[in-house]
Amino acid sequence: MSDILSQILVAIADLKTSQQLLADKVDKMQVDAALSKNDQLLQKVAHYHNCPGQSDSDGDTVASPTLEAAPAPYADIYTEKPVLTTHTGQKGIHPTRMNWGESDPKTRGPIVVSHLANQINLRNAIGAYGGPYSVYRSLAVAMGDLPADHKPNFEHTEPPIKIKQLPQWADTTKIVSMDPFGHLTSHYYKEEIEQGLDIRPTISITRAHMIVPEIQAELARGGLKVDGKVIVNETGELNVHKAAVDPVWYLPGVAERLKVDEDHLRRSLFENTGGMYPELISRPDLKVFLPPIGGLTVYIFGNHELLSDPNTRLTVRVHDECNGSDVFGSDICTCRPYLIYGMTECIREAQNGGVGLIVYFRKEGRALGEVTKYLVYNARKRGGDSASKYFQRTQNVAGVKDMRFQALMPDVFHWLGVTKIDRFMSMSNMKHDALVDAGIKILERVPIPDEMIPPDSKVEMDAKIAAGYFTTGAIPREEDLCRTVGRGWDSFQA
Ligand SMILES: [Zn+2]
Repeated sequence: MSDILSQILVAIADLKTSQQLLADKVDKMQVDAALSKNDQLLQKVAHYHNCPGQSDSDGDTVASPTLEAAPAPYADIYTEKPVLTTHTGQKGIHPTRMNWGESDPKTRGPIVVSHLANQINLRNAIGAYGGPYSVYRSLAVAMGDLPADHKPNFEHTEPPIKIKQLPQWADTTKIVSMDPFGHLTSHYYKEEIEQGLDIRPTISITRAHMIVPEIQAELARGGLKVDGKVIVNETGELNVHKAAVDPVWYLPGVAERLKVDEDHLRRSLFENTGGMYPELISRPDLKVFLPPIGGLTVYIFGNHELLSDPNTRLTVRVHDECNGSDVFGSDICTCRPYLIYGMTECIREAQNGGVGLIVYFRKEGRALGEVTKYLVYNARKRGGDSASKYFQRTQNVAGVKDMRFQALMPDVFHWLGVTKIDRFMSMSNMKHDALVDAGIKILERVPIPDEMIPPDSKVEMDAKIAAGYFTTGAIPREEDLCRTVGRGWDSFQA
């Protein structure tokens, strides 16, 4: 009897193995079939091919379409059958040369993630341009509003200022979460774009006027003065240069920075994005990933050329997004007041001949997201909102206190050439330590003034100070934390 059982078990195991082999084969066939049709662009940008380590040895030519052909609107734009993944060393795959860490942008090569049929074989990175907005692009294409092969016209889109290229742009320990050449894609890779390669900037830089009510009020009170350069006029219009940066992750560098194994990181990214990017697993040769997350924005007050000058004073605020406070004025935290205070001090620094820099990261609710944030708010308000229980409430819902991982944050400072910060407008020990660990000196840490702290946000402030945030005042003791309590929901009752 047990003999029969073990025979059955062996048969099942065999069946499983052959099923897996079949699935692998189908994957490969699909891409092979797709790629064999399209070599036109491949010939055009031939000088970019033959990435070291690539081979054509794994040819498999069985034809067995198991998926429906793409509907007519996509014909000839996408591959006939969707390519579910590609494999390292697969026949027909010729990643465009890209050597992260090269100082010459031409030698470094562009980041290519296009999934168009005629260039899917040229991709040298995983993911898609535009971070989360790639999903909206998908809708526009699906609805027929946007041709899938739309070619952006980059005329007049170049940066109005030059960010000086520095040696750290080629240092794989200093910049691993953004493409240092991302704002110059259409300049350095003009030829490739003209030849049809679908590559796009991951950074854009512009200049603007800003009007902020609190800054206008400060000007009216006489706390700030019009200088014609930073504050342009009595209305309080501000001159600013700003850069939008999409994340571009060099996975070996990100893994090293986070002190985790690269394979382990790839597996976690694959699983926790719902298996969205199988190439994280099947293409270990692709080292760059464009993750579907928000990026950051840099705001520069004063002369950007002085950012890298160690003899020029620099005031900095690193701010992580808090939509509820930043935009809508929620009073449960200090986010907008601290941002405004940081901005005011940046303006003052710039007016005194220094530079002010705000770096705004899209990491809503400590990168836990706004849904989690509101769940935590409810748990706080219903469970007795005290500073002593503040972090525990977040931990209960999210499993962690914070997911911002400031270790990647300093990259943008290296890009801008910042080596020291005179006034750091933040109390966060995590932001401070990340910058100092990255070799950037911080000369003074400036806490938010007490009068700018909304009463209901005392809970958060005291809990943070007790947990290690910088303060020039007293550090609350355990018993003090129980006494710092937030407002309840009484005002909502009829
Ligand atoms: Zn906030």
